[in-house]
Amino acid sequence: MTHPTTTYDAIVIGAGHNGLITAGYLARAGKKVLVVEARNVVGGACTSEELIPGATWSSCAFIASLLRPEIIADLELERYGLEMYQTEANEVSIFPDGSHLFVWKDMDKTLKEIEKFSKRDAAAFLDFGLRVKKFASILTPFLLSPAPSRSQVLAAFEAAGAEDLFNEMVLLSTKDLLDRYFENEHIKGLFTFFGMISVWGGPSTPGTGYVYGHHSVGEFKGTLGQWGFVKGGMGGITQAMARSAEAHGAEIRLNSPVRHVVVDGGRASGVKLANGEIITARTVISNADPQRSMLQLLPTGTVDAKLTEKLENYDARGSMARIHLLIDELPDYIGFPAGEFGPQHQAQAIMGASIENFERAWEAERRGEIPDDFVIEAVIQSTHDDTLAPKGKHTMTLGVQQLPFELAGTDWDTIRDEWADRVLEVLFRYAPNLRGHILERVIITPKDLERDYGLTGGNIFHGAMFFDQLFNNRPTPELADYRTTVDDYYLCGSGTHPGGGVMGANGHNAAQVVIADLNGTAAPTAARVGPGPKAGVVDRAMETVMGTKSGKKLGYTVATSPALRKVVKFAARSKSTR
Ligand SMILES: Cc1cc2nc3c(=O)[nH]c(=O)nc-3n(C[C@H](O)[C@H](O)[C@H](O)COP(=O)(O)OP(=O)(O)OC[C@H]3O[C@@H](n4cnc5c(N)ncnc54)[C@H](O)[C@@H]3O)c2cc1C
Repeated sequence: MTHPTTTYDAIVIGAGHNGLITAGYLARAGKKVLVVEARNVVGGACTSEELIPGATWSSCAFIASLLRPEIIADLELERYGLEMYQTEANEVSIFPDGSHLFVWKDMDKTLKEIEKFSKRDAAAFLDFGLRVKKFASILTPFLLSPAPSRSQVLAAFEAAGAEDLFNEMVLLSTKDLLDRYFENEHIKGLFTFFGMISVWGGPSTPGTGYVYGHHSVGEFKGTLGQWGFVKGGMGGITQAMARSAEAHGAEIRLNSPVRHVVVDGGRASGVKLANGEIITARTVISNADPQRSMLQLLPTGTVDAKLTEKLENYDARGSMARIHLLIDELPDYIGFPAGEFGPQHQAQAIMGASIENFERAWEAERRGEIPDDFVIEAVIQSTHDDTLAPKGKHTMTLGVQQLPFELAGTDWDTIRDEWADRVLEVLFRYAPNLRGHILERVIITPKDLERDYGLTGGNIFHGAMFFDQLFNNRPTPELADYRTTVDDYYLCGSGTHPGGGVMGANGHNAAQVVIADLNGTAAPTAARVGPGPKAGVVDRAMETVMGTKSGKKLGYTVATSPALRKVVKFAARSKSTR
């Protein structure tokens, strides 16, 4: 018989970023915490791994923008080694006709890029950008907050006079949303990409506007709508979180898969590891997705039939895949001078983004098939981080969205190489020179995301991000306050409010509830509102100016001129401090 070992205040199952954040806050609150992680590395889907000896990739998430600045500050992540940085170009969209469109860090440069395709769309982009920022400003206070009801969210939009914005960005499809603003197909194609992330659907699927909106709350060091990279890959975030938690007494055990949660008399009292070891604790918190946490990790019969049914119906469809390449020559993308290093290598490149391509991928996805063409995203982080690849080589990561988890008539293990070959053939249309320069490749299929990274159904967000699974309905009403139907058993992963991505709000919010319950005090009921992104001052001024037709013209002139923008910023700041 195996006897229980040490007792903890809390055991966190999983060292994903949310699990580590929960552990970090608990440890700082003086609690004795143990994190048990199945894999041999921290981070879950936010990790860096040496997939090929000598070369390191962000195996899953590769772009950082959602992580809440309050968490970075509270857990002193920079002190524990987190280094985030930006490149001048955020992204470049490369189209089959050889044209391309950069989205730069600087607004004026981006507007000039859009003007190449449509002057009208450049003006609309400014309008759209302000709308998106307004959406983010209404939604952000709900992030570090108990899960609001959907009517509370709607009321916040109404109070801000922005009910139409709620309709546009929560309920509409990405296509309908973008059709309201833009005319050019290339521009619509690029922006559609952000609504297709891990969705079971296409551009016309209602609710995909929210997938776009969810990503719009991202910011980089206080500037809304921007993103960056992490030195050493995304594992730089979770390694800093692990160091921070350990510095405050938390223990982290890798290679320790939990077989099941121990439940005694209706309450969780510890975990049993796959090796048979039992570890006891006052509380157990699962960082795994809701279905895994409730239906696999709890002993059979613990969850009643009604909740079991709801969890079985919980939508975790929608998947993606990665191909990591070690290359010894940078891609000569079509439309760029061959052999010349440029910003196209440092930005996130999106190839073949068009509404038709996304629609066709969706048609194939719902039939359980692989489409004929792929929209491919690519990041070559080694072009701006020399810690990742051996000299003379580069680490390139490809991503493909809208893939079926279950394939009709075959399975991912059977078609893994054939699928990767097909994706590479599409890549060679955009970067023909790469054909002879791929040294090695590592494929991560949707099935691998489930099997190796613990993501049920391969869903990167621990569940679809549609309105029926958001706010106090995420993952179900019974589980939405991070507590579960089993006493002393909690959820802290992306399947809780406010959803997926490397944001950390879930881990933060869950920790507040667990700490309160351990202390016998009331859990916070109010949202925690941070200082807000820096750009807000200019945005408010611009929003006022953009309210009229002549103002729109003036606003556009300001936005396309860095010098004038500085003046507006200064004027707006002095006004706001009066
Ligand atoms: C391919 C891909 C690309 C992505 N791209 C981005 C991006 O660029 N930017 C972005 O912000 N987000 C991105 N995301 C989404 C983001 O990475 C995830 O939503 C987020 O990392 C999930 O974090 P989490 O802590 O909630 O859960 P996870 O990271 O899933 O962590 C859960 C942890 O629990 C562990 N676990 C599960 N079961 C057990 C068990 N029985 N015993 C012990 N441990 C267990 C798992 O091993 C895992 O470490 C991407 C995700 C994927 C998969």
